[in-house]
Amino acid sequence: MSREKRSSRIEIVSQVMQANDRLAEENRRLFAQTGVRVIDVMGSPGAGKTALLEASIRRLKGKKRVGVLAADIATTRDAERIAATGVPVVQITTESFGGACHLEAGTVRQALDRLPLGELDLLFIENVGNLVCPAEFDIGQHQRVVVLSVTEGEDKPLKYPLAFREANLVVVSKMDLLPHLEFDLDALYRNIRQIKPEQKIFKLSAKTGEGLSDWLDWLKAAL
Ligand code: MG
Repeated sequence: MSREKRSSRIEIVSQVMQANDRLAEENRRLFAQTGVRVIDVMGSPGAGKTALLEASIRRLKGKKRVGVLAADIATTRDAERIAATGVPVVQITTESFGGACHLEAGTVRQALDRLPLGELDLLFIENVGNLVCPAEFDIGQHQRVVVLSVTEGEDKPLKYPLAFREANLVVVSKMDLLPHLEFDLDALYRNIRQIKPEQKIFKLSAKTGEGLSDWLDWLKAAL
């Protein structure tokens, strides 16, 4: 590739990021106007993001007004699971945006028109299952959470540092499975803190409810 071509490509990439950041700021303004707090939930496919949201919504019912924006490359399966809890939910499928592995601020903006933002205290955005791209794009969220299950490797924070650096909180999920696995929880904690020494970490099981109260307290404090 000639030097000229390379520099024009870099310029295009930085323009895309600038446009995204501007739209993210617009989203944040809209969230401020409507008085909703927004949590971006990131993690690999199968980390237990949807299960965590289902369990949280059931426990917050009657106390906090929750909505969900669920993103996947394809299908409305997550939105159907969330809808069963009775809260407003919109599914974004990125298949029509070229199968993007992450959400961008503009995509989120379009979906927001279909949620009753003014009637919500808390909006969860379940990002596309991926530990790489979602962390690169600001979508206007107030806080970011990475969900990592004990069925994944202890070395994930070292392999995907940006997501763990960007996160305000790491949730270690599926703790009910720990007795059946050779998973070194201490090594995971060390690896997370190697990336971000002050990182807050909760361990829980959405299935048994173990550890959920710390997470729910954190959510209430975030509001
Ligand atoms: Mg999901």
